[in-house]
Amino acid sequence: MEKKVRVRYAPSPTGPQHIGGIRTALYNYLFAKSCGGEVLLRIEDTDQTRFVEGAEDYLLKSVEWCGFEFDEGVHKGGEYGPYRQSERKHIYLNFVQQLLDKGLAYYAFDSAEDLNQARKEHEALKQNWKYDYNTRMMMKNSLSLPAAEAEEELAKGTAYTVRLKVPADTNITVNDLIRGEVTINTKELDDKVIFKSDGLPTYHLANVVDDHLMKITHVIRGEEWLPSAPFHVLLYQMLGWEDEMPAFAHLPLLLKPNGNGKLSKRDGDALGFPVFPMEWHDQKTDEIYKGYKEDGYLPEAFLNILAFLGWNPGTEQELFTMDELIAAFTLDRVVKSGAKFDPEKAKWFNQQYILQKSSEELAALLKPELTVEISDEQLVAICGLMKERVGFVPEIYSKGLYFFENPTAFDEKMVKKKWKEASQGIANDMAIIFENTSNFVATELEALFKNYVEEKELGFGVAMIALRLSITGVGGGPSLFDTAEIIGKEECVQRLRANSLLIESLKG
Ligand code: GLU
Repeated sequence: MEKKVRVRYAPSPTGPQHIGGIRTALYNYLFAKSCGGEVLLRIEDTDQTRFVEGAEDYLLKSVEWCGFEFDEGVHKGGEYGPYRQSERKHIYLNFVQQLLDKGLAYYAFDSAEDLNQARKEHEALKQNWKYDYNTRMMMKNSLSLPAAEAEEELAKGTAYTVRLKVPADTNITVNDLIRGEVTINTKELDDKVIFKSDGLPTYHLANVVDDHLMKITHVIRGEEWLPSAPFHVLLYQMLGWEDEMPAFAHLPLLLKPNGNGKLSKRDGDALGFPVFPMEWHDQKTDEIYKGYKEDGYLPEAFLNILAFLGWNPGTEQELFTMDELIAAFTLDRVVKSGAKFDPEKAKWFNQQYILQKSSEELAALLKPELTVEISDEQLVAICGLMKERVGFVPEIYSKGLYFFENPTAFDEKMVKKKWKEASQGIANDMAIIFENTSNFVATELEALFKNYVEEKELGFGVAMIALRLSITGVGGGPSLFDTAEIIGKEECVQRLRANSLLIESLKG
């Protein structure tokens, strides 16, 4: 019987997850769901010095906003818990002891100064120093010291770490589902610490032990972990778990829009687009990092932006619901090369989802943001008129201010170019005509306007702009007669009179 697919997202709570992290979480989710499998959330907090308060909560909220969830994990428990590594200390000890007993790991008593000293001596000779098969016998550990001395150090309570005894000159192959076979010689590795002097395992050991015990079938994570993968394979071998080792898939790095280097958390501010799903307030530095949510992105758009960061369906389709993504997602369509972040494409996605929404839905999204009074009916009508003209929901208000209040500023360039001698008269005539109609609807207003223009033998463009500038203050926008209908008779008539006078005086 095929094993049930089980994947995990395993962030370290060292800060807010940026879009790269959330993308990894999403790909894990999509892969699991496309195979009828499960995805769990494990918090890898063995490095307590880098712990950041609130990071876990931020991740859960971001994922929820994006529209997916984990089947098991810190937030809801499950059969394989606890899911926070700091709560699993006792579990790792067992495996560290096993490796020590088999002679596959050893105690190292070197102090931080000893290690620095060794590093410095090699630096002076322009050599890179590694704690490995070549150097370990020159250091202070249970392999280099006579057994009795090592025992004594332990009995005395000297601080120690446990290091893995990485074999010399052995090839290790990682079979990566995205990159194919990656082979590395153990000469490239070092005797990594697997257990620290603070009584906690390092990431490497905890990660492998947990993936094994939590029955993970596929490890899907960022490319930055590819160099660690051979070490992990070695651990699976040494712990006797090679036959059940999960498959690996390392996702491409996210690159800056120009392709030069990794997208980092500071890039968002420098390049003008958010790098985080939601706003993050850094308590230590008091800095605020912008978020997609607060910048007005719809979660549906954010989901598509993420999905396309390193994956494509191989078809022309660009807009996907979550269910469609689950149906289309396969790891073999994940690209190997870095995925460039394209902020313009991100905006395009948002626009597409705005267009898909009904006017009622858009009104419901905008309403809580508004401080001005407006009826629901008017708001729905405004959203209907404006949705083709905006990239973000709040722009319905900011670009359509004139729907909500009488303009106080008038587009200077337009006034200069298009406000003619006849303009004020036209605006005043139309004020009277509009005032006298009992049917203040767009079609009727348009007919009245056309009649008037023909009768007076006026230029259509000049007359139209006189009306538009008086009513809206700007030179462009949706149909003026639809706009006027929403604004309402009394207000329109008033604006035509008062604003045309104002513009005339500005021009003068
Ligand atoms: N804790 C690692 C991180 O913060 C997880 C790496 C992995 O998925 O193995 O990204």
